[in-house]
Amino acid sequence: MDKDWSEKNKEIQKLLSKETTFDEAIGKLIEFREDLFQQITWIVEGYPEKAFYQLPFAGAKGYHSKTLAYSIWHIFRIEDIVAHEMIAGDEQILFRDDHLCMIGSSIITTGNELEGEEIAEFSKKLNVQELYLYAKAVKESSDRILSGLQYKDLKRKFSEETKQKLVESKCVSEDENAFWLIDYWCGKDVKGLIQMPFSRHWIMHIEAMRRIKNRLCKIARKGADPSAICGLSCDHCFLGEWCGGCRTEYNVCSFATCSEGRICPNVKCCIEKNIDGCYECGELETCEKGFYTPSNDGAGAAKAQSLYIRKYGKKAFLKVQTRLHEKYDFEKVQEILGQDYKEALNMLEEN
Ligand code: SF4
Ligand code: SF4
Repeated sequence: MDKDWSEKNKEIQKLLSKETTFDEAIGKLIEFREDLFQQITWIVEGYPEKAFYQLPFAGAKGYHSKTLAYSIWHIFRIEDIVAHEMIAGDEQILFRDDHLCMIGSSIITTGNELEGEEIAEFSKKLNVQELYLYAKAVKESSDRILSGLQYKDLKRKFSEETKQKLVESKCVSEDENAFWLIDYWCGKDVKGLIQMPFSRHWIMHIEAMRRIKNRLCKIARKGADPSAICGLSCDHCFLGEWCGGCRTEYNVCSFATCSEGRICPNVKCCIEKNIDGCYECGELETCEKGFYTPSNDGAGAAKAQSLYIRKYGKKAFLKVQTRLHEKYDFEKVQEILGQDYKEALNMLEEN
């Protein structure tokens, strides 16, 4: 488990055990859930549709053997069922505001009963943006439930009636891989539920989602040209684990994800000019498009690198990048190349 997340979770569970620190525990748990949810947001905002139904670890044992879409569905179905059928005793979020229809899911269960290709097929049918909105609504609703709890509620147990209600809801499949969940949940008190569906379960699946997306990016990078169109190096970029590279569908550069049609202005312009990259453009020195926007602190460094590629080629450029990383400790290349593209080019030529 991610060390930092594991430490935070341990601290929260400890604080939850004492009445004097209960409010602090709930506050920290909600904050922690916000941080974890941010990981999901980045994935949903950053990756193309096809990323959500890939099984890059098909056949493996563990949470990472699922798809990204399945992971989101599963985390929030479980939380929705537990939070509303068991703790709050009201209607699940899935059945409010048309969520089920908008997501396009063929099931209302937790998905535990699905295996291998069934998971991919199920995931393919989901509308990921709607799934994300559902996940967000479940999270926000659960946060409200958590905020309304008192220390004495932690010991609340669940009756045979709750168990029956869960069975009748048909939200847990009768398949042996799923049905055990009902006994598992009903064997816990509210505190036990907070410790699993509301926190640890998130950590395990979000961690698995990170593994899945890292693997998808690695696969996308294979054979792709690592020289970015604007003159950066995808092989040396700080976004490495998040991005499949500037020339792949797994491009998560903000200049792409924040632009219309998810196409970066530099990429769009190069396509229109039918050139490989800005280094082949006669307007490079004066260009202010996309990454070269003057207010972008990396504009000068990227421009210098494009000029370097124009003069010495991509191979030499990638080598100079490696040398810079060996010599200096930096995240973004502008930290050492500065903002003036002429001076930056001199520095590249000296290295
Ligand atoms: S700014 Fe555009 S060209 Fe440069 S790395 Fe990002 S997506 Fe690629
Ligand atoms: S005009 Fe600017 S963005 Fe377009 S190809 Fe030339 S340098 Fe790149």
